Amino acid sequence: MLTSLTLMDVQNLENGALAAVAGADSADEIERVRVEYLGRKSELKLALRDVRDRESGMALNTLRERLETAIDGREQELRRAELDRQLTQDVLDVTLPGEERRLGSLHPTTLTRRIVEDAFLGLGYEVIDDREVETVHYNFDQLAFPPAHPSRSHRDTFFIDPVRLLRTETSPSQIHVMEGKKPPIYMVSLGRVYRRDAPDATHFPIFHQFEGLAVDRDIKLADLKGTLRHVMRALFGDERQVRFRTHYFPFTEPSIEPDVSCPICDMRGCRMCKYTGWIELGGAGMVNPQVFVNVGIDPEEWTGFAFGCGIERAAQLRHGISEIRPFWENDLRVLRQF
Ligand SMILES: [Zn+2]
Repeated sequence: MLTSLTLMDVQNLENGALAAVAGADSADEIERVRVEYLGRKSELKLALRDVRDRESGMALNTLRERLETAIDGREQELRRAELDRQLTQDVLDVTLPGEERRLGSLHPTTLTRRIVEDAFLGLGYEVIDDREVETVHYNFDQLAFPPAHPSRSHRDTFFIDPVRLLRTETSPSQIHVMEGKKPPIYMVSLGRVYRRDAPDATHFPIFHQFEGLAVDRDIKLADLKGTLRHVMRALFGDERQVRFRTHYFPFTEPSIEPDVSCPICDMRGCRMCKYTGWIELGGAGMVNPQVFVNVGIDPEEWTGFAFGCGIERAAQLRHGISEIRPFWENDLRVLRQF
């Protein structure tokens, strides 16, 4: 033997290795044995590298093969044992109660939006979800906003470039619809709108609105009031009272603001209604004849009304939530209550 291992050494090495293989009782341990006896730095590999004669080479190679066979065999035994253990222990007992999966729920904004959609579908209105990037032309000019109206400024509105902006209300949809079809028109548009408001308890730079338009012959203010009452009751219940105050909006004349009796305190007075018993809910009015002229509808023949309201604001009142921020924070602890 010219190698550093004598025949006796080879025998001892084999005995030690086989004992280690037999003693290994996990996949990790058998891997450790493999590295120890067959790895690059093992005694056997180092000896094989130094081998100078055929006899020693054959003896060491035979030992290597026997050890490989023993280690592979032990590894398979351990695998089978593990599989047997899994088969007997991890039995699926189909009589046990299953794991509870928590179902998601609709966001309160979506819930409120659907109530509004259903109320208007019931009245025969068409429901529209329109573009959010608008032009100054549709967002302001066509809606008869005066040239110096503060909403047109960069401080109030998100401009993309001098002619495009994020819509500040859903009203541009009314113009698109009126341009595209002849009256009679009954439509409601729902979606996101954007204003450069600093977020606080009651303001957020993005919120949802619903906005409706009816154009027909002989439409009167009484039709508008009846429609608003219908929607307010769908949102807040039959026992709610609705009142109207005069107001000013560019695209309606006359303009009114509907108030609903406070659903939180039932008119006894609370923080939500600022102790007045009434809550302001959006704006409404008869369509300004100039708006009809802008889209080529003859104001002598057709009249109409329009109205708009914040969806989060309605949801706040339905659920007694005093702030708008929770609607955008997506805190599951809040949302799971709906
Ligand atoms: Zn109140």
